[in-house]
Amino acid sequence: MAVSLPIAPAKITTTKPIIIITEFPTNPKTLLLQKCKTIKDLNQIHAHLIKTRILNDPLVAENFLESAAIIIRNQPIDYAISVFGNLTDPNTSAYNVIIRGLTLKKMYQEAILMFKKMMENNVEVDEFTFSGVLKACSRLKGLEEGKQVHGKVMKLGFGSCGFVENSLINMYGNCGQVGVARKVFDEMSDRDVYAWNALFAGYTKSGCWKEAVDLFWYMLEVGARFDEVTLVSVLTACGRVGCLELGEWIGKYVEENGLNGNITLVTALVDMYAKCGHVDTARSLFDRMLRKDVVAWSAMISGYNQANRCKEALSLFHDMQKADVEPNEVTMVSVLSSCAELGALATGKWVHFYIKKKKLPLTVTLGTALLVFYAKCGSIENLVEVFEKMPSKNVLSWTVLIQGLASNGQGKTALKYFDLMLAKHIKPNDVTFIGVLCACSHAGLVDKGRALFVSMTRDFNIEPRIEHYGCMVDILGRAGLIEDAYQFIQNMPIKPNAVIWRTLLASCKVHKNVRIGEESLKYITSLEPAHSGDYLLLSGLYASVGRLKDAVRVRSEMKEKGIKKTPGCSSIEVNGLIHEFFSEDNAHPESNEIYAATEKMMQKIKMAGYVPNISEARLEAEDYDKEISISHHSEKLAIAFGLIKTLDGTPIRISKNLRVCTDCHDATKMISKVYNREFIVRDRTRFHHFKDGSCSCNDYW
Ligand code: ZN
Ligand code: ZN
Repeated sequence: MAVSLPIAPAKITTTKPIIIITEFPTNPKTLLLQKCKTIKDLNQIHAHLIKTRILNDPLVAENFLESAAIIIRNQPIDYAISVFGNLTDPNTSAYNVIIRGLTLKKMYQEAILMFKKMMENNVEVDEFTFSGVLKACSRLKGLEEGKQVHGKVMKLGFGSCGFVENSLINMYGNCGQVGVARKVFDEMSDRDVYAWNALFAGYTKSGCWKEAVDLFWYMLEVGARFDEVTLVSVLTACGRVGCLELGEWIGKYVEENGLNGNITLVTALVDMYAKCGHVDTARSLFDRMLRKDVVAWSAMISGYNQANRCKEALSLFHDMQKADVEPNEVTMVSVLSSCAELGALATGKWVHFYIKKKKLPLTVTLGTALLVFYAKCGSIENLVEVFEKMPSKNVLSWTVLIQGLASNGQGKTALKYFDLMLAKHIKPNDVTFIGVLCACSHAGLVDKGRALFVSMTRDFNIEPRIEHYGCMVDILGRAGLIEDAYQFIQNMPIKPNAVIWRTLLASCKVHKNVRIGEESLKYITSLEPAHSGDYLLLSGLYASVGRLKDAVRVRSEMKEKGIKKTPGCSSIEVNGLIHEFFSEDNAHPESNEIYAATEKMMQKIKMAGYVPNISEARLEAEDYDKEISISHHSEKLAIAFGLIKTLDGTPIRISKNLRVCTDCHDATKMISKVYNREFIVRDRTRFHHFKDGSCSCNDYW
């Protein structure tokens, strides 16, 4: 290999020498490795090599190129390319170096082109050439290019070179062709641990969890050597398929072989236990970790979140903040999901603020998690704001927005966004349609609802599920078309479930239709053991039309059948802490104060014209007791607590596990007016935004 002289690629005369080369060592690599930190250094050495004609030595030239292409990171590759360009007859090593260098700089296309040029120039290739260019194909996810290289591998007789085969497995695995990767793997005569790990990585990337678990069983069977990288892949797979048996085996292996110091491995164990539902085992392992990075914290937090132990998820997140570990996207998605579940607005808002402060990219996953959070907390303004700011959105993001708007009483806005979604050619899915039908129901748009229901199947090829039928029953029932709703249920092509009849029963209650209400309860009890709520609805329906005897009868029927009332529970977040209240509850440490505040609050709204609605209260009690009893409903206690614990004008957010009762609804409307406060109450099915004496649900829920 000769070197064309004397073109130095960059200026070399300007500054004073940075490296003083007194004697050029026999192995130039050492010097280059030690001294070359910047392009300037390289320039200087280049000049020296040219001047002394040492660059004519192919070994020196090659080492110099390697420094230019690979060793000096964070520098553009141009210098190396120009050095390469000046080699008159670059050999295999020179090509290999430049292909590796280009791949390192993420210039995959160029690396592949360089390989093609090498073939055209009939330069001999070796296994390093193939592993280099296959890496470029793999990173590029260039399956076609990869296949062509594979062809050359076979043609030139490298088909049984383990090093090249590993690269092929990697490439196919990364290009989503894990089946082909497996074929290459199966045909290998001699597999080292890298081959196994390459295949595991392919399975992980394609989500072939079961295959990964089976592969490890096979690995144990044939007694192949595995390493910590293997175990991490297998543990991930165990978590996904819930294969606790193998996961525990690995746990024991880690313990017995003293691998506890490998933080990645122990984190994978924590994740596996959490995903297999053994959250407490995961936690004790997590607590014993000497060093915990953000991945370990995230695995544990997301474990709690997936197990629906949201309070523990948030409490661990607060510990993480105290430990000064910065959250990543996985952490934030889990935390937001727990906040959404608990209605923990303050903590969730902190996460949002953190994302803004750190200017973290609002990915689709993170953005959608924020949307779910704001939708579930009833923060409509934030919901829309985040949605508008998301740089890219998928069908899930749109669906969450539409559902969030609909369940918060913004039906018309929800439908506006649905039209926008269609205009942007984003295809709605079945869940989107639940959202839009729900929107029609809230906005009282019966015809629009009927039209969308038809369009769903006709234009979008989506078969309605029981939930969609339920939405239609809700639309009709809410509009007072009880008879139509009843007919609609009778004509359904699938068997109506208890939820459908329950929806109708609720409509009957509002529109005081006793006949169909009675019928609905019959259907419910024929399908499943009725909830206390069903009996209470019918009993309330009788009471509302003055049939008190029947109301009492239904209640005693419920008692005879041993159906207990689900205790009402309301929770409220004050200063980042969640407080829970039950009816007539004395558990709160500030109980006396809270009852006094409730008393005062009820007096104040009575003066403003509130009349207790006791038709739904315990029918067996005396009138006065009824009034006391309803004034101690859990949401009233929570509201009173909120009023004394928050500053004037702060909106108060409450989550309730059951439907809000008529009296609490009336009272809250009045409280919102008298105290000039906004209340956002999330009940079992929807949101109520109380403001200035009225509610966003228009008194239908
Ligand atoms: Zn109530
Ligand atoms: Zn309401």
